[in-house]
Amino acid sequence: MLTNKSFLLKTEMNQKSNLLLGKIVSSDITQKLSSSIKDLKNKNIIPKLAAILVGDNPASKIYIKNKSKFFVKNGCESETFNFSSDSNQSEIISCIKQLNNDDSIHGILVQLPLPKSFDDSIILETITPKKDVDGFHPYNVGKLFSGNPQFIPCTPHGIIKILDYYKINTSGKNCVVIGRSNIVGKPMFALLSQKFETGNATVTMCHSRTNNLRHHTLNADIVVCAIGIPNFLKGNMIKKGSVIIDVGINRIVENSAKKSYKIVGDVDFESVINIASHLTPVPGGVGPMTIAMLLYNTVSSAKLNNT
Ligand code: NAD
Repeated sequence: MLTNKSFLLKTEMNQKSNLLLGKIVSSDITQKLSSSIKDLKNKNIIPKLAAILVGDNPASKIYIKNKSKFFVKNGCESETFNFSSDSNQSEIISCIKQLNNDDSIHGILVQLPLPKSFDDSIILETITPKKDVDGFHPYNVGKLFSGNPQFIPCTPHGIIKILDYYKINTSGKNCVVIGRSNIVGKPMFALLSQKFETGNATVTMCHSRTNNLRHHTLNADIVVCAIGIPNFLKGNMIKKGSVIIDVGINRIVENSAKKSYKIVGDVDFESVINIASHLTPVPGGVGPMTIAMLLYNTVSSAKLNNT
């Protein structure tokens, strides 16, 4: 029988070996991008991102700051354009139009969510598809769904890179994507179901109106959970040996934490860790990939627009 100490040790060892660490994959990607960044620099081109921030949502401010730091750390540039939440939508549209025509800018993103008074689709559709490094413009969505992507949304693309890096085979597997957002769920569905090397899966998309979600997740070889509900997916909802990708970033109040809150995913780590064959932790799993793929798309855009 296992003593408490050896049980803990076994759990710890298991946890280490079955975690899919986006932090490591992200470093691998930035290292591979560094030679392209150097080549562009030799031609006097510095990949540059323009980030548009509307309002004062604290999480959005942190995301923009982190993106900017990451770009600078990797030899690229990032400039933030701030608008107050009572700005006129036309001011934002005219800023985007100027950025579309500015040759020093290779990627444009609008940090979501926008305050309620703004129309996401009108604003996102103003970004020229060739600088749409978030991949949310209908042109790029269409390219992705037709199997010929130009810019792939960063979070699902990052998840595919994690699966590639850890050699997780998706072909013929049953995959369940929980959540149908334009940012994660829908493009994830498109990527996993395409005739791509990391694709060819049979994909079921579940959402808030799905009946008997557990029936679907218990049958899945791979589950991608992107719903925004802390610790939602429990160990008793998944198949033994399945691969679980936790996209969630949820702030929960914790008085003992340094920051008075802590970040948890959509997956209940404790109950899932010893049932899944692999699991992405939060933090340190999908999160670092999103930002790495933004750099990847911006460098691709700089190359594409300068050949
Ligand atoms: P969203 O908030 O736009 O939509 C949530 C989705 O979850 C909806 O499609 C809804 O149908 C589904 N849903 C809600 N309750 C459900 C339930 N009980 N059962 C099944 N489905 C349910 O989603 P989003 O923008 O994709 O964000 C999801 C989570 O992922 C959030 O926590 C967000 O912060 C996080 N996120 C993380 C990254 C990253 O870089 N790691 C990037 C984007 C989003």
